[in-house]
Amino acid sequence: MSPQQPTTGSTPVFEIESVTKRFALSDSLLDRAIGTREFVTAVDDVSLTIHEGETLGLVGESGSGKSTLANLITGLYEPTEGMISFDGEPVGHVSARPTDVRSQIGMVFQNPKASIDPRMSIRDAIDEPMKAQGWSRSRREDRMEELLSLVNLSEHHADRYAHELSGGQAQRVAIARAVALEPRVLVLDEPTSALDVSVQAKITNLLVELQERLGLTMLFIAHDLSVVEHIADRVAVMYLGQVMEVAPTEQLFERPTHPYTSALLSAIPEVGPDGGETVILEGDIPSPVNPPNGCVFHTRCPIARPECAEINPQYEGISHGRTKCLYPIDDEIESGAEQ
Ligand code: ADP
Ligand code: MG
Repeated sequence: MSPQQPTTGSTPVFEIESVTKRFALSDSLLDRAIGTREFVTAVDDVSLTIHEGETLGLVGESGSGKSTLANLITGLYEPTEGMISFDGEPVGHVSARPTDVRSQIGMVFQNPKASIDPRMSIRDAIDEPMKAQGWSRSRREDRMEELLSLVNLSEHHADRYAHELSGGQAQRVAIARAVALEPRVLVLDEPTSALDVSVQAKITNLLVELQERLGLTMLFIAHDLSVVEHIADRVAVMYLGQVMEVAPTEQLFERPTHPYTSALLSAIPEVGPDGGETVILEGDIPSPVNPPNGCVFHTRCPIARPECAEINPQYEGISHGRTKCLYPIDDEIESGAEQ
């Protein structure tokens, strides 16, 4: 397991500052002319820092904006508002990023088989990014050997094609590809969601091992809090495009301060608060086209008060984390928390 100390004070790798991403739903000339364009706010005023060497877990229900945020970080999308910096320098769309910045960020997606070209052997698929980088044949061959052993695949797997592999093996290939150029950062968008439960733990353990051996900085996305418990140093919880709470993992699991985090935790049988009531979230997530006024969570919040429908909460620093709630659960509010 990664060390779970607060990482405040370590060097920021990515800084996400007040980032909003909107998508236009209907964008016809008529809509433009008469002002009836509709927008989805997929990511809504998010600020987050990812520190060198840490694993930040990002969780939230489907549609909460996790993949959009990942795509903003990797430069597939550009923010509508706000700024993203890498090593202190603003970065935009991937096409505008210098090659050395691009090769420092690896990506792993949910469906490993779809991310590997079916016409390529596994060896060619892993070789591809190194070839594109202009590495010599001998350097690539040496690296290939290292990579296969790093993700526990044999030479025998290397000559196969994606459809001949199990989901877990295919995800190992995708991970080998993602770390081929020795990136500093790995962005993993639900890397275990499509895998059998028995395989999920193996892939998570492999990632923990890689993180320790290679000193990687990771953004690990999952829709379920229990998936990130053993891999993340800190966890950010998203709801309707907003980060509701960020805290070191242990603190977040033991003393959640946002009622949404608390509800997600009480849905995990072996983790839910001792002797506490299980909070069941009623109703569906509201549409990000028409998000609720005030606190976006108030329509489903079990402890919402009338003012929650009016006031959009500011972040409140609590211990080593922060929470976006007018009435956070913890009463020991300390000023000066920096995350
Ligand atoms: P998650 O990964 O948490 O499931 P997403 O980031 O995929 O969430 O989506 C967040 C919201 O933004 C959803 O309502 C989704 O429908 C919308 N969305 C995502 N990508 C696009 C897009 N390219 N165009 C329009 N809407 C989008
Ligand atoms: Mg997603």
